[in-house]
Amino acid sequence: MANIKNILVLVETTGEGKPKATVAGLLGAAAAIGDPVAVAVTAPGHGDTLAAELGALGAGQVYLAESPSAGSELGSAQVGALADAHQKYAASLVLVANTNDSKTVAGRLAIAAGGSVCADAVGIRYDEDGQEVIATHSVFGGDFTTESTVEGGLMIVSVRPGSIEARAQPVAEPRIATAPVSTVSSPGARIVESTDAVVQNGRPALRGAKAVVSGGRGIGSKENFLLVEQLADALGAAVGASRAAVDAGYVPQSYQVGQTGVSVTPQLYVALGISGAIQHRAGMQTSRTIVAINKDENAPIFDVADFGVVGDVFSIVPKLVEEIAARRN
Ligand code: FAD
Repeated sequence: MANIKNILVLVETTGEGKPKATVAGLLGAAAAIGDPVAVAVTAPGHGDTLAAELGALGAGQVYLAESPSAGSELGSAQVGALADAHQKYAASLVLVANTNDSKTVAGRLAIAAGGSVCADAVGIRYDEDGQEVIATHSVFGGDFTTESTVEGGLMIVSVRPGSIEARAQPVAEPRIATAPVSTVSSPGARIVESTDAVVQNGRPALRGAKAVVSGGRGIGSKENFLLVEQLADALGAAVGASRAAVDAGYVPQSYQVGQTGVSVTPQLYVALGISGAIQHRAGMQTSRTIVAINKDENAPIFDVADFGVVGDVFSIVPKLVEEIAARRN
């Protein structure tokens, strides 16, 4: 798939119509190998502010696909918008976030536009000849890195949120094109009402957080989980958990990190009382720096930790929180 130029980036938006945190990384990945075209579905006449915000995140071109049913049809308008933009910009690569919403769009777009999906990539690059785009993936709990590409047809890559550090240069005046979505596929279902999940006590959301502090079964009880929250607050981090901690009722399922929970790639991941089972590592092993505190020196979490402390979380973490506070003051 040679001669990549325009790269379509699907923009996920919040309930207030702002770009979600996933967008900056996608535009960064696109700008590293081509010219990003941000594709956003908006209600008619509502895209100007969004376009300016996308320019600030590095979109040189913004395609505002107007749809009266924007956001209410489980991705149908987004599929149509990307299919239209694919034609308009002669694009052969589409980047979407590896979230439930955008993965649905990716699969449907592959059918609609004749393409293939490279799922859950953690990087995008050209091959050595500068001809093919290669997506890299971290698999089997991060133990292996694999590569994929698409031969013939549209290449659609879902990118793991938080995995791309590169950011595109801001563009003061992006070129904006506005058009109604012309090829909306029939909706599978209609969203009647939706509410954004409540952010945990003002802490950053787990998905896309720059720092995460997670607790496991070793925390011992729901009450003790306060320890995890205190360290998270000292670091300005989101709170996560292992499945054992979730199953034991210490925290809700939405906190779960791992194969059947959320995948995170923060700058800092702190694991407290977590053994490091492969299913947990699958969701955090690509974190930039991993710190583990565990009283068992043979716990597998130490195999992936950059810094490991063998000891009791109940004696170490309070001191750590104190020390962080002291250095802040
Ligand atoms: P444990 O394995 O019981 O480890 C507790 C750790 O705490 C131990 O290492 C112990 O030494 C340490 N500890 C105890 N007390 C202290 C103390 N006072 N101070 C310091 N350390 C202490 N798991 C996930 O996390 N996420 C998933 O998404 C996930 N998906 C799964 C999917 C499938 C299909 C299956 C089969 C399993 C899945 N699991 C998942 C479960 C996984 O296999 C492990 O059972 C789970 O991760 C263990 O959680 P844990 O490390 O908290 O508990």
